[in-house]
Amino acid sequence: MGAKDCIFCKIADGSIPSSRVFEDSTLVAFNDLNPQAPTHILIVPREHIDSLDKAAESHTAILGHLLLTAADIARAKGFSNNGYRVVVNTNGDGGQTVFHLHVHLLAGRPFIFPPG
Ligand code: 5GP
Ligand code: ZN
Repeated sequence: MGAKDCIFCKIADGSIPSSRVFEDSTLVAFNDLNPQAPTHILIVPREHIDSLDKAAESHTAILGHLLLTAADIARAKGFSNNGYRVVVNTNGDGGQTVFHLHVHLLAGRPFIFPPG
């Protein structure tokens, strides 16, 4: 059961379409609508969690699974050796715009650090 009016809950339950690249019982991964790199995938838990700031000890397994899935997708798509960037924007200064926890997986170009 998703949070009311949450766009990523609706993408996770299929009521809003997305270009899916992977899914399992606990998460979905789909292409970002407004890609910031040649590959830009969002990985979101099916459970609604507002942000990393709201994650709790009970979310330890899903948090680990989100990151390991990012690495799995990177290997499957063949960009692990060149490298990639994983980002979790959190709250206002972090640049978070959708308040359903998600991991950005960006690849296909070099990234500078620190980001802007
Ligand atoms: P945030 O800024 O919260 O870290 O990232 C939200 C991301 O969700 C942005 O990169 C934005 O392009 C993406 N996004 C927002 N709405 C949609 C949508 O309806 N479909 C998809 N595929 N991506 C979305
Ligand atoms: Zn949600």
